[in-house]
Amino acid sequence: MVRKKVAFYTMGCKLNYAETSTIARKFSILDYQQVPFKSYADIYVINSCSVTKNAEIEFQHIVRSTMKINSKAFIVAIGCYAQFNPKKVSSITGIDLVLGYEEKFKIVDYLNRGLFLKQKYYAKIISKKTYFSSFSVGDRTRSFLKIQDGCDYKCSYCIIPMSRGPSRSESIKNILKNIRFLFTKGVKEIVLTGVNIGDYGEKNIYGKNLRFFDLIEAIDQIQEKVRIRLSSIEPNLLQNECIDFLSKSKHFVPHFHIPLQSGSNKILMKMHRRYRRELYQEKVKKIRSLMPYAYIGSDIIVGFPGEKHKHFLETYHFLKKLEISSLHIFSYSTRPNTKSSMMIQENISKKIQWKRNQILRGLSNKKYRFFCQKQINTKKTVLFEKNSGNHKKYLYGYTENYIRTKIPLNSSSIFYENTLQDVLITKVDDKDGIMIAEPINN
Ligand code: SF4
Repeated sequence: MVRKKVAFYTMGCKLNYAETSTIARKFSILDYQQVPFKSYADIYVINSCSVTKNAEIEFQHIVRSTMKINSKAFIVAIGCYAQFNPKKVSSITGIDLVLGYEEKFKIVDYLNRGLFLKQKYYAKIISKKTYFSSFSVGDRTRSFLKIQDGCDYKCSYCIIPMSRGPSRSESIKNILKNIRFLFTKGVKEIVLTGVNIGDYGEKNIYGKNLRFFDLIEAIDQIQEKVRIRLSSIEPNLLQNECIDFLSKSKHFVPHFHIPLQSGSNKILMKMHRRYRRELYQEKVKKIRSLMPYAYIGSDIIVGFPGEKHKHFLETYHFLKKLEISSLHIFSYSTRPNTKSSMMIQENISKKIQWKRNQILRGLSNKKYRFFCQKQINTKKTVLFEKNSGNHKKYLYGYTENYIRTKIPLNSSSIFYENTLQDVLITKVDDKDGIMIAEPINN
């Protein structure tokens, strides 16, 4: 019997990567053959994102290019955009099946139940209160492990609580079990992901509320040699006791991603963020005092409604002084049914948004170069990745503090993919900005 071919495409966040991987494993159990997304397949599954308007445009573009590969393919849309606007997604030419938050984990059942009829269909979007375990394995060197889903916050620009529902968490027991399982599969680094991981919470069998600190404390006691990375964490939820603990941890690497969004308190208030810039600054200072080499990344939204020139300047000068390593900059885009979508009269023009975006990109590049320069002549541990074959001269990987690093392939035969190796950072390659390292002969 000819095996049906299935291909996956993931948009957006690490959570989506973890969930795509979980869904792909369901197909492999049933003897489907997984092929790369740009190859010919019978079924294409697109895990969509709805965080920005651009993500929705990109989704349509992906559907069109998929149809060019196989116009008769069965295309399934899952993920936040599918959950948030199933009618609109199902009306896109080429889309055959739209599955919501819960239904996507039953995708194989939907296909088996005869929905393979090339009929437009979208599954009833039901409860978003259930929790589904997810992790990625096998398709990347690092594995993304979902520990939490949904969000109870109400940031005025954000569509995520509407597509992913309220905050809920995996049990510590299951998280530890999954980490051990991933370790047995050869995974050396696990990224704890979620929508709002700092809001992690579980009631244990004695009725005690276990919080994020309890989780990291439990994880740090594992015996397996695996390094653990945190994904994005809200500044107000990054407790000082967590920073203290992480600075001495055995498993957690010195890497933080803390979204700021604006350096103006006025704009933070309009965004309904739950902190002010002073708190953010305090967190960065605390991390730097305990972990001088830690990578600290941040997210910024430029052109939020009402962001006047003076507010942007406040953000710029605040960021300039802040000892962070790099920035992800997003231009504000209106999402339907959000509070900020009502602030239409205060909207900032695309041209101004673009200009502000460019200015902050320049600042971010400078910060990242400075951060990299500081690493020269320091010892680091790199997790080397699979050599895709395109890079014949170097083997690539990330240091514990999240610096892209490469080592000349001829420098030592002991450097294999998916191994953790000690190296000395020697310089920055001016051509691509990647750090060059050499082996440390112990
Ligand atoms: S914390 Fe705010 S921005 Fe993050 S998912 Fe929740 S509502 Fe959205």
